[in-house]
Amino acid sequence: MSYHIASDEQIEKTLIKVLKKFRIVESQIKLKKLVEKELRKKKKKYSVSGGRLRKIAVNSSYVKLEIHTREGDPKKPMAKCPVCGGNLKKLRNLTIWGGEVTIELRCSKCNYWTGKKKRIPTRYVFHYKKK
Ligand SMILES: [Zn+2]
Repeated sequence: MSYHIASDEQIEKTLIKVLKKFRIVESQIKLKKLVEKELRKKKKKYSVSGGRLRKIAVNSSYVKLEIHTREGDPKKPMAKCPVCGGNLKKLRNLTIWGGEVTIELRCSKCNYWTGKKKRIPTRYVFHYKKK
């Protein structure tokens, strides 16, 4: 069985259609299934990877991504955003009580952030965002 590769535009269009209908999709796996089902209405077999779908969702102004996380190893360095692969920006916050500096990493593309205790994404919830 061969699969067709959908273009980014095709995926985004379908993704918006699915989200417009369901408003909230509770996981990436569920979203992948819904998008593939919708794409297959065009009589072709399409396969979309979850990661690609998520990256397209991050870049779409119609999608609000909610990131659920668990705590990860604080010593493990994080070079890129685990959600979208974007660059992480280092932010330093001075506490009002003086002294202590907390460093936060923030993604330049999506709403992912992490502190000293690493936030490892475990589940994504996709919301439809009206423009
Ligand atoms: Zn990101």
